Amino acid sequence: MDHGIACKICGNVRNNKIHWAKERLLNLRHEFQYLECASCYSLQIVATPANLSNYYPSEYYSFQNPKFGLGLNPIVYFLKKSLLRHYLHKFDPTGAFLSLFLPHPFHWMKPGMIDFDSSILDVGCGSGRVILSMQRSGFTNLTGIDPFLKEDLQNTKYLKILKRDLFEMSGKFDFVMLHHSFEHMDQPEKVLNKIRELMNPNGKLLIRIPVANAYAWRKYHTHWIQLDAPRHLFLHTSLTMNLLAGKTGLNLDQIEYDSTFVQFASSEKYFRDLPFSDDFSMFTGKQMRDFSKEAERLNKIGDGDSACFYLSVK
Ligand SMILES: [Zn+2]
Repeated sequence: MDHGIACKICGNVRNNKIHWAKERLLNLRHEFQYLECASCYSLQIVATPANLSNYYPSEYYSFQNPKFGLGLNPIVYFLKKSLLRHYLHKFDPTGAFLSLFLPHPFHWMKPGMIDFDSSILDVGCGSGRVILSMQRSGFTNLTGIDPFLKEDLQNTKYLKILKRDLFEMSGKFDFVMLHHSFEHMDQPEKVLNKIRELMNPNGKLLIRIPVANAYAWRKYHTHWIQLDAPRHLFLHTSLTMNLLAGKTGLNLDQIEYDSTFVQFASSEKYFRDLPFSDDFSMFTGKQMRDFSKEAERLNKIGDGDSACFYLSVK
């Protein structure tokens, strides 16, 4: 049925579908309409709720204080930095040895894209979990912003975690990153335009987001964990990211899928009408391992339900 509602990204009005999705994370079960675009396959909330902040209570996971066991212990700092130096393809025998036992601490970070003294901006950083972890691996010029923080949490030369809206920001950064925050933002084109202004000419942009039209959406539909109504306003696809990049002076250089077992384990919970707060004890160890294997397989064929989009200034 043709609803005549236009896709906010590509403008298509023909054959778009409407789905009703329930709020599940907080188990409120309020219902919201989502548009599925027949042309770019994105999903988008039809009307952003006026009281959206009510759906981000103070216990929302992004705002919980991150826990770091050994903190800035100098030996741990040295070992973490060595490990990362190795994964960023710098010569480091200690790091090479550690890499025999330890994985890359930031799977989304690629050699050549970032250096320890690069100026880094994390947009929608919550309480700063990612940049605090990066500081503990040797990065020295980190800024995180989030308009939903109660107050600034850090403001030193090396690390800033600020209550700040993206549109209040100025200056230039070598590396801008959004870890599962872009899908929460209204007006994605305006956001990307502003981010491009904040990037150095050789700067890089990483956007990690859920991906619509992936296997998990096709299988679980409105029970898909990453629809996350009404907090996720836009669920993008490679088509919409390409389109938005083109409109905002950016190049989409690469896409890497990084979905996990969660797309199955958590979506199954919603499908069985169980609350998010239930643990995964309903699944056997083998089922959980199979979920992870299936996620890896989907990532390889570009059908996982989340991805890293790497962009640069045109
Ligand atoms: Zn569209």
